[in-house]
Amino acid sequence: MFDAVSHLDVRTLMVVLLWGNVLSAILFLAYYGTVSRRGNSGVIYLPAKCIQALAYLLLLSREHVPDSLSVILGNCLLMLGFYLEALTMLSVIEELRPNFLPLTVILMMCIAGFVASEHIYPNSSLRVAVSSVCVFMIVIFPNLRMMVSRNTTKFKRLVGVFYTLLLVVLLPRAYVAITGGLSILTNSHIQTFTFMAMVLILLFGLPAYLLLIKEKSDQMLCVMATTDYLTGLANRYVFLEAAERTFERCRIASQSIAVIFFDVDFFKNINDTYGHAFGDVVLTQLGRIIRESIRPSDLSSRYGGEEFVILLPDAGGETAGKVAQRIRDAIAQTVFPGHADFSLTISVGIKDGVPEKGDSLALFIGQADTAMYSAKRSGRDKVVEFNPLLNYACDIN
Ligand code: GH3
Ligand code: MG
Ligand code: MG
Repeated sequence: MFDAVSHLDVRTLMVVLLWGNVLSAILFLAYYGTVSRRGNSGVIYLPAKCIQALAYLLLLSREHVPDSLSVILGNCLLMLGFYLEALTMLSVIEELRPNFLPLTVILMMCIAGFVASEHIYPNSSLRVAVSSVCVFMIVIFPNLRMMVSRNTTKFKRLVGVFYTLLLVVLLPRAYVAITGGLSILTNSHIQTFTFMAMVLILLFGLPAYLLLIKEKSDQMLCVMATTDYLTGLANRYVFLEAAERTFERCRIASQSIAVIFFDVDFFKNINDTYGHAFGDVVLTQLGRIIRESIRPSDLSSRYGGEEFVILLPDAGGETAGKVAQRIRDAIAQTVFPGHADFSLTISVGIKDGVPEKGDSLALFIGQADTAMYSAKRSGRDKVVEFNPLLNYACDIN
């Protein structure tokens, strides 16, 4: 196989690269309608491919067009094309606003360095060496990010490793060009391996890019399907699924379990007085407070509009009372910017016990809800525990 690759002609590989980029651009254009709705990286991918195709066309036409067009413009366009492709990668892998500045600085330095070297010492070997190092530096940037960033995934790391392995061939090419002399269209082992690597990057690049977009949108869909947008807590469906399993586990192990159900007092008044946007801020803060007040093994959810439920496995009424009090204290201490006079209270219902045969999660939640309504009826801003013996709720404030 090594022998077969080393006999490939550089011009042929460049033609493959030219048409490969054109076909990728056409294929992507067909897909673009869907992709453009999921972020703006598609806006850059199309020109990236077109510019790379144009660059290969110019490099191939070396004998037919002036050197300034073929050599300088061809190489600069190649760098620009790879830069745009690297930007698309960055915009897919970065979570929020991608920072394009470092890569743009690298591109500027590469183009300036290439043009300066061409001006000072116009030599084909130096040109090959400089352009190899430049393309390496531009394309390696997002791939290093994919390999080492904290929130990377197995797939992103694999894409980064593949790209890096293929790009590494550019470095010995630069070395060979400097030490032994090389022109862009020279046929030699290092040249064919370099252009073969570029062909593989082309073949691998489009599916990798589309899968990166898919991975990102799958992650977003998963978050949207399982999480409440305002509070970041599990939505009711996901909570109930996990809570049923936890409830069953506690029933089998004869472990106590506690349900905390709370509802914000006079929330409608808050919306009416301060506006719905502020009401949303209150809900967001409540989500944060709940997350910070419970153990990782506890489950929590925004159960309804301004109703929250927390399931505490392996916990009794006393622990649940402490958690409820912790939440009330945190709410009391929360300062809402621009509303210094604002205060918020909640009414809490608790149901605890060792689940017995015939008991269900729905029953526990229903009884915690009953206790919460009892807290409402008896004046709000309090914690009430459901009394299983008397089947009524009793105030524990
Ligand atoms: P009570 O003390 O009896 O619970 O009184 P309340 O006003 O809190 O109860 P009510 O059920 O009458 O009002 C709940 C309000 O919660 C009504 C609804 O407009 C508001 N709400 C529900 N979901 C949202 C939301 O996502 N954002 C905002 N801002 N308000 C919401
Ligand atoms: Mg309420
Ligand atoms: Mg309510």
